[in-house]
Amino acid sequence: MTRITVAKGDGIGPEIMDATLRILHAAGAQIEIDEIEVGEQVYLSGNTSGIAAESWDIIRRNKVFLKAPITTPQGGGYKSLNVTTRKFLGLYANVRPCMSLHPYVRTKHPLMDVVIVRENEEDLYAGIEHQQTDEVVQCLKLISRPGCEKIVRYAFEYARAYGRKKVTCFTKDNIMKQTDGLFHQVFDEIAVEYPDIENEHWIVDIGAAKLADTPEAFDVVVMPNLYGDVLSDVAAQIAGSVGLAGSANIGETCAMFEAIHGSAPRRAGQDLANPSGLLQGAIMMLNHIGQGDVASRIQNAWLRTMEDGIHTYDVYKEGVSREKVGTRAFADAVIARLGQQPTTLKSVNYQASGALNLPRYQRKAQRAKELQGVDLFVHWHGTDANELAKIIKQLNTDTASLSMITNRGIKVWPEGFEETFCTDHWRCRFKASTFPMTKQQIIFLLSRAEALGIDVIKTENLYSFDGKAAYSLGQGQ
Ligand code: NAD
Repeated sequence: MTRITVAKGDGIGPEIMDATLRILHAAGAQIEIDEIEVGEQVYLSGNTSGIAAESWDIIRRNKVFLKAPITTPQGGGYKSLNVTTRKFLGLYANVRPCMSLHPYVRTKHPLMDVVIVRENEEDLYAGIEHQQTDEVVQCLKLISRPGCEKIVRYAFEYARAYGRKKVTCFTKDNIMKQTDGLFHQVFDEIAVEYPDIENEHWIVDIGAAKLADTPEAFDVVVMPNLYGDVLSDVAAQIAGSVGLAGSANIGETCAMFEAIHGSAPRRAGQDLANPSGLLQGAIMMLNHIGQGDVASRIQNAWLRTMEDGIHTYDVYKEGVSREKVGTRAFADAVIARLGQQPTTLKSVNYQASGALNLPRYQRKAQRAKELQGVDLFVHWHGTDANELAKIIKQLNTDTASLSMITNRGIKVWPEGFEETFCTDHWRCRFKASTFPMTKQQIIFLLSRAEALGIDVIKTENLYSFDGKAAYSLGQGQ
């Protein structure tokens, strides 16, 4: 018996959760339930995170959380419960299977069967943003080695546990050589440990185009947070219906399972909603807690129900569907088919024996880090980079001098193009004449800049690691 936490959520949440739990119990799931309240009412009672402190205790004690969609009230100040939950509980992996049910649910991609594994904690979603000048704001993209190792390893372990043949990595490392470069590098390192599973890397733009056009070319696809956010919705949509997909959010100790759709408030309370998305989340949960046999029973009965044309309004199609049913009747139809197999769709036989057992991240030995220079970011209202260079060169010393100025990453001095459009945000790169540079030299540069009225809005140290420069060049440099 596994104790799980359940939240029925808002809108259609309570109906689809009741339907899902009814199916789980009928199939013999060995679960005991602690129910908590999250969502709209909690927000409106003045709790800006949508969840009470006592509920966290229950979630953390049970470690497995099945959550129905919630409604985030309109207006500012309410924090996304999903984002908070992922971050607090360290749910680093978002797993979303996207499978077409051709010919029972309309799709342009009858053979599609893709699992998107999205990194869930870092990338641009760290939410570290600043306005730096009148014209420029920035968002920090943070990619960590532990973050990459955990998600990539998860993708390969998932592939192995679920009999998948290939793992594909999407990044944009031709442009973001440090951040996406690290993700790709870690992918290549870890892929070697799984010789039984094919691996490949695509640049995300052409990879996304291929995924949208020929999804049957992919199996498991792993990617950083932002690309995964966008492409997991694309994948679910082209598979047939966003209403049919579930997702798992997996951490080292806790996990959360849900449907990918929202609370559909306009459909609430009418016994109309399709419970399939949440049911798919619950099936992933059963696999996670080692009840693969129950998960298989439910999935096969669900596939059979879809095949038999018993459809809720969102997937109902004249000529294909046989009976239009509501939430409760759909659940009854699945329960009636427990023990049956689909006849044309592929049946499942999950072997998963519980949560994937990943090794804890081992911190690597420190590398030799050497300071080589500093980028001073300057707020300046002029437009001629040569003029700015004259001003900034006043900071040159015997040991550090201006080597380059860029604007939005493009080199504008020396030898810039006058066609290049410039904002008021300038990066002025100082390189030391001998390494290592010292922090004292940077402090000296900054105090001289202050004395000369140069508006430095931030600095970024330039390091090499094990002798290799670990910072981007200017574009055009
Ligand atoms: P939505 O997913 O709730 O609805 C989009 C469309 O799909 C609507 O036409 C809806 O009727 C339909 N739909 C969704 N689920 C369905 C189902 N199970 N069966 C049949 N039809 C279904 O997205 P939205 O309208 O943009 O958002 C509504 C609310 O849900 C918002 O408050 C939003 O913040 C919230 N939301 C919550 C989550 C979550 O809790 N995980 C996710 C997304 C949106």
